[in-house]
This record gives sequence, structure tokens and C-alpha cells, in this order.
Amino acid sequence: MNKKQKKLLLRILVAAVFFVPLYLISEEIVPVSLPRWALLVLFLVPYLLVGYDILRKAFLGIKNGQVFDENFLMTVATVGAIVLGEYGEGVAVMLLYQVGELFQSYAVGKSRRSITELMDIRPDYANIEEDGALTQVDPDEVEVGSIIVVQPGEKIPLDGVVVEGTSALNTSALTGESKPRDVGVDDTVLSGSINMTGLLRVRTTAEFDESTASKILDLVENAASHKSKSETFISRFARYYTPIVCYAALALAVLPPLFCTVTGIGLESYPSLGKLWGDWVLRACTFLVISCPCAVVISIPLSFFAGLGGASNQGILIKGSNYLEALAQVKVVAFDKTGTITKGNFAVTGVHHSVMEDEKLLEYAALAECHSSHPISKSLMAAYGKPTEQSRVTDVQEISGHGVTAKVDGVAVAVGNEKLMNRLGLEPILCHHPGTVIHVAVGGAYCGHILITDELKEHSREAVDALHRAGVEQTVMLTGDTENVAKKVAEETGLTRYRAELLPADKVACVEELLQDCSASRRLAFVGDGINDAPVLSRADIGIAMGALGSDAAIEAADVVLMDDDPIKIAKAIRISQKCLRIVRENIVFTLTVKVLCLLLAAAGMADMWMAIAADVGVMILAVLNAIRCLFVKHL
Ligand code: ADP
Ligand code: MG
Repeated sequence: MNKKQKKLLLRILVAAVFFVPLYLISEEIVPVSLPRWALLVLFLVPYLLVGYDILRKAFLGIKNGQVFDENFLMTVATVGAIVLGEYGEGVAVMLLYQVGELFQSYAVGKSRRSITELMDIRPDYANIEEDGALTQVDPDEVEVGSIIVVQPGEKIPLDGVVVEGTSALNTSALTGESKPRDVGVDDTVLSGSINMTGLLRVRTTAEFDESTASKILDLVENAASHKSKSETFISRFARYYTPIVCYAALALAVLPPLFCTVTGIGLESYPSLGKLWGDWVLRACTFLVISCPCAVVISIPLSFFAGLGGASNQGILIKGSNYLEALAQVKVVAFDKTGTITKGNFAVTGVHHSVMEDEKLLEYAALAECHSSHPISKSLMAAYGKPTEQSRVTDVQEISGHGVTAKVDGVAVAVGNEKLMNRLGLEPILCHHPGTVIHVAVGGAYCGHILITDELKEHSREAVDALHRAGVEQTVMLTGDTENVAKKVAEETGLTRYRAELLPADKVACVEELLQDCSASRRLAFVGDGINDAPVLSRADIGIAMGALGSDAAIEAADVVLMDDDPIKIAKAIRISQKCLRIVRENIVFTLTVKVLCLLLAAAGMADMWMAIAADVGVMILAVLNAIRCLFVKHL
């Protein structure tokens, strides 16, 4: 509890201690006779003590022309009750209202804190070595290319590459994955992970603002500003609702007694005119108290906030409540293959029909690919095994969905699929082995092909299963790879459909086709790794980028970012959103039902004012507790 909350608690307790004996006296349960004026003065002590800030806010609201809010409702209702001589009721309402306020600010603060604690990736300092001694500097001041030292137990402050040392990193704050990651020289390390075992010297590759930790924090902080439909509805609702309720209460206070007074109908059941008016004004005050919309207004944004937080603790960053809402309605999921369903670590399983030594062919391929970030290029360079001398490579051109052309030692080299060869007017020799075939042409002549194979990710099959269980009707793989490979992968994972040999533009067309039988309640999500599929990511209802840790393009283009590359997280994200929306719906139905019931009772004169506020605060507490459930994510 913070200072403000402690102070409020103290005020509530002291006021309650004052209030209880006074209430017993005023109800004549304890036989002490006090004159009315003395009772009023005594009741005003706990009233002002517990409620002065509400009165002040209501007054300021009126002064600033923003009259209708909860403070106004409470002030009018309690002042009304006290003027009518219902001292106990007036004070009780204020007291209970503040209990509700205290609980709510505590709960909101607590869920906010538990999210930020788990998102505690903001680095405080970086160690720079100067004359053999370490000095701590602000990570903001470290320039790209500086060497920083990260000791065991410290957070890595900036993205970089290890130049000395080995260690295990805890990346759970970034990915939700608790298994440590081993790193050594030349490995990339990301800010926000925690160095657990060894001392590392790291050459930074990004400034603080461009580092992973800052980017993630930005994303999480901005998420709250993308409102869901229910949230915008609620804030619009509150804007009209409160004034309407106030006028309705005014009507309730004036019209029925006026009618009685003028026509004389029903007048006989009241001892006096004053009693008649007093009764109806009190009913109007009760009506005001009941209609206070706080439970709904508070619990809905809190549910979404908790849902976003719960997801980010699992390494799932959702860029706004609107996407959380849309995720719950996903019925079609389209996948990219390489890097999404398969690992994207191709192993070279053969070199066929080569007109030169196999080694030489691989060297040409690896060199030509040395500027590409495609998983195929990474794998070819890894298979070649030697450092690629970039100075030997010029005129590099990467053709999306085809491959690469470049000059190696001044000779034209083309590396890619059948389409690329056809485009260059060459006749490739086809391969009948299963796997991805990379054809190589050197100096304008076909020189053979390299066969590479990829593996499924560990959880791909389970992930597809989990999606179907979460209510997804269609899972479709869209790939640029050949029919053979696509078919095999689709069968092994249990995908409902696949489309092969697509260029990036064809993927967009496919997604558009799939979108035709989608609607506002049947959404389509596309999952990709962000390498050459940014257009599709942005075209889908929801773009999910996977394994995006460290890939800027993907983080920009996607609506949902999965920090690690485990496909099981897709179903998890959908489950989280479904749970969150279910809770929002529960809260709306529950609070509105109780409200309507109380309103009916009050209009019939059957509800006391303080019963009404007790119901209101009770409903609010239950709704907030329910909303907080969004934070907790069950394992699938
Ligand atoms: P996927 O849908 O599997 O992610 P891509 O659209 O990334 O496929 O690539 C489709 C095909 O284009 C690959 O299977 C490969 O044959 C060829 N290709 C793309 N980029 C390269 C590259 N850098 N080197 C060689 N071949 C490539
Ligand atoms: Mg791809």
C-alpha cells in the first residue's frame, strides 16, 4: 500500500469508529437522548473526515464545468440524505464508497506492479572499463561499438555481440522461457536478459533507444492506448450515462410528489406534504447512489490491462486491447513455413550434378548469400564453415521468393530455386530427393544444386492441435517452397491446408482470398517470422510475428509479437484473449443485473440507500477481483 492509500485507510477506520456508536444512538438501539442538532454535528465529523476529498472534487468539477461524475453523484446523494435528516445513511454511503475506492486503487496498483515487476527489463546502468577499473554509466550514453562489461548477476543493458567470455543468460523476462541460454564469443546478446554465470565483454550494436529492452517497454506502454471496442464503448457510455441518471433522479424527486400535490391523488397516505416530498427526494438520492457506474467503468479496462500483462509475462506482446479482442475471434490461422513451423536451420544433405568440386560450389553459394538474412542463406554459410570474405562479393541482388544474384570474384553467380533459374533462361536439373533444392549458376551456366533439409520445430504438431482445440477452424500453410516439401510438412503437423510455390505477392493474394470468408466475428491471423512477409503480416486481421526478438521489421509490422519462436504460443495467445473477453462479458452482465435489480427495488421504495451502496461496492470488488484473473495464464 502506498502513502495515499494508507492515509485513506486510516481516515476510513477513524470515521468508522466514530460512526458506529452514533448510528446506534440515532437508531435508538442505545438509549442515549441527544438533541437532533447535536446528533447532526456529531455525524458531520466522520462524514467530513472520510468524504472531504470527494466533496472537494465535486465542487471543483462544478466550478470547471465538468459537473457529472461519480464525485458529484455521491455528493448530491449524501448531502441530500443528511438534509432530509437521514444522517446515518448519508455518512454510511460516503464511508462505504471510500472503502470501494480504496480497494480499487489498491487492486489496480497491485496488478500494475506485478506486470511491471515481471517486465523489469529496463537496465539501470552499463559498465565501461577505463584504465582497468569499471565505471558505471547511464546506458543512454554508451555509443554503438563500445565495449561494455557485464558481470554475473547483472542485466545486459544494450544489445550487442560477445567478444570475450562465456555464460548462461536468463531471458525469461523477454521470452517467458525459463531455460537458460548459453552464449559465447560472437553470439548476439539482447538487452533485458540477465547474465547468470560468467563475465562477458560485449561490443554494443545498438543505442539504448534502439535496444530490445527499450523497444519492448515502448510497445507495452503504448499498448494501453489502443483501446478495444468495449473500452471505447464504456467511456462513451459513461459520458452520456451520468448526466442522464442525474436528470432522471431529478425527475424522480420532483415529478411524482408534484403530481400528488397538484392532483391530490395518493396524498392521503402521507402525514404531511413535507413528508411526501422528503420521501421522493430520498428515493431519488438512493437512485443516484445505485446508478454510480464505477464497477463497469473500472473493471473493463482493468481486465484488458491484466490480459495484456498476463500475455507479456509469457513472452507474448500484444500491441493493444483491440488486438486482444480480435485474437479471441480468430478462426483461420495462416502460417509461413520456414522459421515458423520449421526451424529454418537447414542442413546440407547433398550436392548433386555439380560441374565443379562440391566444396567449390558451396563456396560460391555461401559467398553470394553472404548479405542475405534469409534462413537459407544462414544455413549455406554455416555449411560452408569458413569466414566469408565480403570483399570478394559485389552487385548483390536479393529477389524475394527466388534467391540471390551477385558477383563473386567478378563472376556472376545465381543461387536460388527453379524460378530463379528459369528467369535467367537456364534449364535446372530437377531433384527427386525430399528437401529444398538450391540451384547454383556460375558465369551464366548451370552448375548443379545443393539439397538442404529443414526440421519441424519441436512443438509444431502440438501447436496446430492446440489451435484446433482453441476453436480455430482452418490452419493453412503458405510457403514459397516446393509442393513436395510443403505436402510433407503439412501432413506431419496436421495442418488443414497448404499452398506451395508462392511468391511473397502471392501470399498476400492468398490471404486476401482467405479473408473473403472471414468477418468481424471470424478473424484471420497470419503468423510469420517477419523475413520477407511484412506485407502479409499487415494485410491479415492480426499479424503475428514469431521469434521476433531482435528483428525490428517484424516488431514494426506485426500486431502481436511472440518473443521466442515456439509456435505453441499462438494458441496460448488466443486462449488468453478468449479468457479475457469471457471475463469482460461476465463482469458486464453481472454488474448490470445487480444494478437493474437495485434500481427496481429503489424505485419501489424497497431499498435503503446504504443497502444500495453496499451492493454497489460489493459488486465492484467482485468485478475487480474477477478482472484480475486475466493476469493468470493457465498452461495449455
Ligand atoms: P517460406 O514460405 O518457406 O518462408 P520464402 O518466401 O522465404 O519461403 O522463400 C521461398 C523460396 O525462395 C525458398 O524455398 C527458396 O527456394 C527461394 N529463396 C528465397 N530466398 C532465398 C535465398 N536467399 N537463397 C536461396 N533461395 C532463396
Ligand atoms: Mg519466410
